[in-house]
Amino acid sequence: MEFFVTHQAVDHYSGDCSVAFVLKGKSNENRIIQNYLDLHRFEPKLASTLMLGKVEGYKSKRVLVVGLGESPLSQKNYIKALKSLSSAMSVSKVKNVVIPSIEVEDADEAWLQITTARVLKNESYKVKKVGVKEEISEIVLEAVNIYSQNNGASEIQKGVAIANGMALTRELGDLPPNICTPTYIAETAKSLAETYNLECEILEESDMESLGMNSLLSVSKGSIEPGKLISLSYSNAGNEAPIVLVGKGVTFDSGGISLKPGQGMDEMKYDMCGAASVLGTMTAIAQLQPKVNIISIVASAENMPAGNASKPGDIVTTASGQTVEILNTDAEGRLVLCDALTFAEKYKPASVVDIATLTGACIVALGHCTSAVMGNNEQVVSELLDAGKEAGDKAWELPIWDDYQDLIDSPFADMQNIGGKGAGSITAACFLSRFAKEFP
Ligand code: MN
Ligand code: ZN
Repeated sequence: MEFFVTHQAVDHYSGDCSVAFVLKGKSNENRIIQNYLDLHRFEPKLASTLMLGKVEGYKSKRVLVVGLGESPLSQKNYIKALKSLSSAMSVSKVKNVVIPSIEVEDADEAWLQITTARVLKNESYKVKKVGVKEEISEIVLEAVNIYSQNNGASEIQKGVAIANGMALTRELGDLPPNICTPTYIAETAKSLAETYNLECEILEESDMESLGMNSLLSVSKGSIEPGKLISLSYSNAGNEAPIVLVGKGVTFDSGGISLKPGQGMDEMKYDMCGAASVLGTMTAIAQLQPKVNIISIVASAENMPAGNASKPGDIVTTASGQTVEILNTDAEGRLVLCDALTFAEKYKPASVVDIATLTGACIVALGHCTSAVMGNNEQVVSELLDAGKEAGDKAWELPIWDDYQDLIDSPFADMQNIGGKGAGSITAACFLSRFAKEFP
C-alpha cells in the first residue's frame, strides 16, 4: 500500500474510487450524490458508508460516501470514520482511492496526513495464522491519494513509518509464546539492526551474571528459555545524550511459583508488548531518520514455575547493589526492568522511558483505553501525555509520592517486590523509581 499527496481536485481523479465525506445536517455539493443519499435514505451517521457507482461530475469509477456525524469533527471521530472507510474499500475491492481533506478539530494538515496514512496502513494489518497458507487476494488497496490544498512538505511518510512500526509490534504480540521467546526477540532486534544499520548488543545470561543482574536472572532461571538483555542504538545527533527506551519483554508470564489462575493465561503471551512497542518505535525511527540519538533496551525472559524457580521469600541482589525480597514471583516485570534501568545508566541518558505491561492493577484503575504514566520529571511526563493526545493513544498520570514508597520497604532487604492491596501500579512504579535516580 503506497500513499501520495495529491493537489488535483478529488472529482478529477480518474482512478478506482473517490471518497466523499458528509456531515450531518449538510447536503452534498454534488447534486447527483445528494439525490443518491436521499434515494438510499442515507443518514451521515458517524462511520456509516455507502458505495455508489459512477457519479456524474466525478471522473473515478465509483464514489464512496462516508458519514462523519455531527460537526465539528473530533480527532477520535475522524479516526473512526477512516476505519469504516477502510473496511468499505476492502469489501468492494478498491485498488486505488483519493481521500479529500476535511476540517478536524484541533488538527492541522500535518496531523491529517500522518493520521490518515497511519490508520489506513494499520487497518491493513492481518494476524498471520501459524502454518496456515493464506489465500492471497489478487485485489488489494495499492494506492491511497490524500488531497491537500497546501504545497507544504508531505507528512505522509511519518504516518507510514509509524504504522510499519505498529505492524511489527502487533506481530510480535500476536505470535505464540513458544515461537516468540526471548531468543526470537533478540533475533528480531538483530535483523532490525541489519536492515537499518543500527548497533545491536545482546547480553546472554552469563554476561548478565558478570554484571550482577541477579534480579533479571531470578525471573528467567525457572525457564528453559534463556533470558536476554537486548540493546539497539540509533544515532543521528553526534554526541548528544540519548533518549533511552526500556521495554518489558516477558514472553510468557505464568506468574512463576505464584502461579496465575488458568483462565485467560494464554493472554500472558502479550506480556512482552513493552518490548514489542520499543522495537516498533525503533523501526519507525530508523525509517524516518530524525536527528536524535535513541537507544532501546529490552529485558526479556520467560516466567515459569520450576524446581529451580524463584520462591516467595527469596532475596536477590540487583545490578544496582540494592537487595529485593521477592514476595510474589508474579511481580516479575519490575524484577527484569530494574536491572535494565541500571544498565541504562552507562549511556548517560537525557531521559529514560520504560514501557511495560506492568500490573493488572493498572487496568483496574484506568481500563483498557488509557495507559498510566509515572515519572520523576514533570517535563518528560507532560511530553508523554501530550504525545498520547496527539496520537489518540491517551495516558494519565498517577502519583509516585513518598507516602507510597513506604509500602515496599522490607524488613529483610532494601525493598520487597510488592506493596499492599491498594495502589498496585503506583507501588510498581515506586519500585522502579529506586533504580531511576540517575536520570529523568
Ligand atoms: Mn506477572
Ligand atoms: Zn508480567
